[in-house]
Amino acid sequence: MAVGKGWEGVVLKLFRGKDFTFTVTGAEQVTPDYRRITFTDGGLLEAAGESLHPTMWVRLWFSNHGKPHQRAYTLVDPDPEAGTFALEFALHEGVASDWARSAAPGDTVDATVQGTGFAVPAPAPQRLLVIGDPASLPAINSLLDAFPRTPATIWFETRHDSDADLPVRLDPDLHEIRRVPRSGDGAALVERVRAELPQLAPDVESAYVWLACDTVTTRTLSGYLRKDLGLPRQRLNSLGYWRPAA
Ligand SMILES: Cc1cc2nc3c(=O)[nH]c(=O)nc-3n(C[C@H](O)[C@H](O)[C@H](O)COP(=O)(O)OP(=O)(O)OC[C@H]3O[C@@H](n4cnc5c(N)ncnc54)[C@H](O)[C@@H]3O)c2cc1C
Repeated sequence: MAVGKGWEGVVLKLFRGKDFTFTVTGAEQVTPDYRRITFTDGGLLEAAGESLHPTMWVRLWFSNHGKPHQRAYTLVDPDPEAGTFALEFALHEGVASDWARSAAPGDTVDATVQGTGFAVPAPAPQRLLVIGDPASLPAINSLLDAFPRTPATIWFETRHDSDADLPVRLDPDLHEIRRVPRSGDGAALVERVRAELPQLAPDVESAYVWLACDTVTTRTLSGYLRKDLGLPRQRLNSLGYWRPAA
């Protein structure tokens, strides 16, 4: 990710709701269940300037039977000079997934940028402890890019066989991925993290966890990390990325 220096050390509340229109320039079916779409940015990246930061996301607007729906997606490889970026869609049911499945060059989508931010952990972590799934893969990759010399362990919840082929930006010398097939609505992931993470965080004051799964799993794991493990608030970055069906 082309990261400016401006994001370091600050939490940003960007734009207060600025609107942009993105235009599709291409689409790639990365796996049967994951699609990357490239865009021109409608002025977004110039407006963002130095505020561009890892895990940066936008709110996209989709229409379904005349009703607007807002969905969050993460910028992939933003290139401010070219005014381009990509978005990657984990595909499932839903208006955003349906739009992505058929998106073709020339299509447009409206976006609002609001409330995105990233607080750089200080002191710098010895190891990134990352918990996510295909929806948070773009954010995970942006983190790995932003901390190119920091070792990382990633617990990655998978749903489809094809998830084994997802483009995780692993450096074999630094990064280790632990794939966990989704089962029990996220319970398997919770169990693995509880069993394995504490050994990698002997000192909770300096450990750093980045967590983004479905909302229920995220809440369960952040409760565990904060209350049972004693991770300080500022050493945990956690956000539920999608709501499981009731
Ligand atoms: C900050 C942020 C950044 C995000 N970045 C990305 C991104 O870069 N790429 C990405 O793919 N997603 C990303 N997401 C998640 C995405 O916004 C949600 O998955 C969203 O619900 C998808 O909208 P939809 O219209 O396709 O499905 P919805 O209409 O919201 O849901 C339809 C059905 O699909 C199920 N569902 C929704 N999302 C998922 C999922 N991920 N996996 C399995 N089932 C699901 C729901 O439970 C529901 O049953 C991000 C979320 C946040 C909060």
